[in-house]
Amino acid sequence: MATKGSDKYRTKFTLDERDIPAKWYNIMADFKTPPPPVLHPGTGQPIGPQDLAPLFPMELIKQEVSQERWIPIPDGIRDVLRLWRPSPLYRARRLEKALGTPARIYYKYEGVSPAGSHKPNTAVAQAYYNKKEGVTRIATETGAGQWGSALAMATQMFGLQCKVYMVKVSYQQKPYRRIMMETWGAQVVPSPSPDTQAGKKILLEDPSSPGSLGIAISEAVEDAATREDTKYSLGSVLNHVLMHQTIIGLEAKKQLEKADDEADIVVACAGGGSNFAGLSFPFAADKLAGKKKKLRLIAVEPSACPSLTKGRYVYDFGDTVGLTPLVKMHTLGHSFVPAPLHAGGLRYHGMAPLVCKLYDEGVIEAVAVPQISTFQAALQFARAEGIIPAPEAAHAIRVVIDEALRCKKAGKRQTILFNLSGHGHFDLGAYEAFLAGKLQDYDYPAEKIEAALRGLPKVSV
Ligand SMILES: *Cc1c(COP(=O)(O)O)cnc(C)c1O
Repeated sequence: MATKGSDKYRTKFTLDERDIPAKWYNIMADFKTPPPPVLHPGTGQPIGPQDLAPLFPMELIKQEVSQERWIPIPDGIRDVLRLWRPSPLYRARRLEKALGTPARIYYKYEGVSPAGSHKPNTAVAQAYYNKKEGVTRIATETGAGQWGSALAMATQMFGLQCKVYMVKVSYQQKPYRRIMMETWGAQVVPSPSPDTQAGKKILLEDPSSPGSLGIAISEAVEDAATREDTKYSLGSVLNHVLMHQTIIGLEAKKQLEKADDEADIVVACAGGGSNFAGLSFPFAADKLAGKKKKLRLIAVEPSACPSLTKGRYVYDFGDTVGLTPLVKMHTLGHSFVPAPLHAGGLRYHGMAPLVCKLYDEGVIEAVAVPQISTFQAALQFARAEGIIPAPEAAHAIRVVIDEALRCKKAGKRQTILFNLSGHGHFDLGAYEAFLAGKLQDYDYPAEKIEAALRGLPKVSV
């Protein structure tokens, strides 16, 4: 007989430490056509490993272009991941009930990492390879502070120094993230900063610039390129970063098997695309292999920074100043500075090229949602499930709730899986503003985007 204590009511699907994936999944192996080449910003020609060598350790450069389907995860990385992995998969029974939906909703919870998001999954891997190749210092940028704190923790564990250029609006809104990074031993400055030529230039043009991820990337890249002891580290967008995150989806697949269920819809928010890729790529593998044709993979972005849904699929710089290689991606233009949204991690003008390729080929879908209804979804989730979601993750929740309500209307028992990419314990200022009715929606910034798109680099490919 089924009682409330039996498996029938199971809420949490956990795995053993032995089940931490031993290999990353590399989606490039399953593409029918190769991804567009990455181009040198000066010559416009495809770049080679030697062009990236000043910025990244060779092992990560190899991973960036690898065509191998499975890449072994070194024990030195898995030993650190053990501290919080495998992360739990929850069945959102209380949210289902609150919505009155016949849909089954599951979420993979990445907020259990020490830094409170999925980002340590790649931070640990990147710190490991830098250490192994004799690097002693890493420079990086951070938006809302999640990436900086993930890298601060990871570099500390491998005995590396860490300098973080933190987007100024977040530096001001989120002092606790800075203190977290400093607790883990990193040096943190608000970006634009006077520490780099790129930062000085922006400050000269606009002393009150709120900063953006693009600007902060320019500063960190310049720092790494001009110092012998320093390499650069990026928390999203790049192929190897997305691959490091695939442990999320690989674990989730095993956990869904344990739940005797299969996903119909997979949802995650997308800033640079890494947590979306991490959860969805192992599922996209089935679609690329011609199986699971009806499976829907949905990336959710803010309507104030809608790179997939409103951007152009062209070559652009990854940063604001134009120091990085040119990559083909959905972009709002590298000079686009989004409104000071509370989901700081989603304020990026571009999107991971691998995610863009899948979008272009119709393998994945994208939806843009406004800020206020996103926080309404966050509150509904927190009140049903207990966990207070990061504002970034709340974008996914908005779409999950909309899909669950659609299932209710249609009387469909679909299974929805989403990535709860982090908790919102350092985002309570945003919750405070929402609860006080002070949060605003930002109009779709058509004019600003048009202006930024006019500044796209000319590329003849
Ligand atoms: C950084 C961050 C994001 C956005 O980055 P992606 O690379 O798109 O995943 C989303 N959620 C949380 C909690 C983050 O910290």
